[in-house]
Amino acid sequence: MPSYAAGKRAAPGGHKLSSNENPFDPLPSVLAVIQSAATQIHRYPDPAAGELVAALAHKYAVQPAEIVVGTGSVALCGQLVSIVAEAGDEVVFSWPSFEAYPIVCGIAGATAVPVPLNSAYATDMPATIAAVTPNTKVVFVCTPNNPTGTIVSHADVERLLAAVSPEVLVVIDEAYVEFVDDSAAVDALSLFRQYQNVVVLRTFSKAYGLAGLRVGYALAHPGIAAALRKTSIPFGVSTIAADAAVASLAAESELLARVETLCQRREQVCEALRAQGWQFPDPQGNFIWLPTGEKTMRMADFLAEEGIVVRPFPGVGMRITIAENSANMVLIAALSQLKSEVWD
Ligand SMILES: *Cc1c(COP(=O)(O)O)cnc(C)c1O
Repeated sequence: MPSYAAGKRAAPGGHKLSSNENPFDPLPSVLAVIQSAATQIHRYPDPAAGELVAALAHKYAVQPAEIVVGTGSVALCGQLVSIVAEAGDEVVFSWPSFEAYPIVCGIAGATAVPVPLNSAYATDMPATIAAVTPNTKVVFVCTPNNPTGTIVSHADVERLLAAVSPEVLVVIDEAYVEFVDDSAAVDALSLFRQYQNVVVLRTFSKAYGLAGLRVGYALAHPGIAAALRKTSIPFGVSTIAADAAVASLAAESELLARVETLCQRREQVCEALRAQGWQFPDPQGNFIWLPTGEKTMRMADFLAEEGIVVRPFPGVGMRITIAENSANMVLIAALSQLKSEVWD
């Protein structure tokens, strides 16, 4: 089984662009709630995270029975596979994609069926549909795809749903949905309302800046939602995490303004890199994918010397998080040097 490779830390003075974290400090209103919740850490949290579930049900206009919170949405990925798949069953996903998918398959004893991305570094939907067999229990649709930043279109997910049996769970992993500005991207919520086998995963880790508190959630139909609750680690979402998530929903406009800023920075970095001659897919998350192939590790080492820690995929490419302006400027300068010295 593969091990999860967490993004490396940066040396002092350097920039960690390796984990798709939000570069902004926590909002004061959220910190105040965390401080207040900290006085209750001798108590177990509400096992149902009722207040957070109610706030999310309100946000999405669904029943509380259709919301399940988890210790990051990565935990929910694992639970979904464990619920429906065992030895001999198959789980289909694009590759490269979120590294947790093959790991959660291994834990469940299920067979991972990675489907190579197409030449545009995007989900190859015809190949994904062709990879589904009578043994398939789950199809993960990661949009925008981590690490390549490409979206899956609404039409493509509709094609997938038309092709698979309603017994197959189609899990739309939208960890970066708040950063999407491409109108062709899947409207997962409308498909959730239409199809009983659609599960939508979202997280407070990226756009909402709560990666360190570990809280994500699923929109799932009541039967699947009940199974998710049964397979959760009891009290997995702490009071601090749940209260911070509720406070973040209350401060959503402030947080989404930060997302907008990050999207503008993403465009600036893209423009600068394209002007340098780099070619890469249109990024729709808070990160850029550079398909650097065999030169990936050499380039990542060079960037590390400049104080920029990226997430390299040896032999394939590197994922670079959009962060502080200062980090983005160092990145642009370093990539300009790399372009002539290593790449060309
Ligand atoms: C970051 C990420 C998640 C979940 O992160 P959590 O911190 O566990 O909520 C899920 N899917 C993808 C594709 C991600 O990149």
